[in-house]
Amino acid sequence: MGNLSENFNHKDFACKCPVCRGEYRIHLGLVGLLEDIAVHFKKRPKILAAFYCEAYTEKLNRDKLSYHSKGKAVNIALDGVSGAELFKYVETLPGVNGLGFYPEENAVHLDTRPVEKKDSWIKEKGKYSPLTADKRAQYGLS
Ligand SMILES: [Zn+2]
Repeated sequence: MGNLSENFNHKDFACKCPVCRGEYRIHLGLVGLLEDIAVHFKKRPKILAAFYCEAYTEKLNRDKLSYHSKGKAVNIALDGVSGAELFKYVETLPGVNGLGFYPEENAVHLDTRPVEKKDSWIKEKGKYSPLTADKRAQYGLS
């Protein structure tokens, strides 16, 4: 039992950079979504990335509006579950308004950005692009 919920501890969401030594910020709605995923797949999602502190956001050269820096985004993977299968389930969850498919990492990015900013994208060879119908078909996401 974690200190945030059944499966999660605040440390799971800490920034992984060496500068801030584990600063964290986590939106509880996101924890609820992760518990839902854990129940559905009967397996605890592995959190590959969650909060990015200011120094880390800068190092990554990411735009300041990254939902990771707000504590509203996580990248997850599930042992024994394909990225496509995970993506298709996460897409059905209300409140997930940012959704990234990272096939090379077998991972999914999800965030709780406002619904009017709803977006989905794919990361291939380190580059992000919109998740088009063609890409969905290519990866079996539709
Ligand atoms: Zn940091």
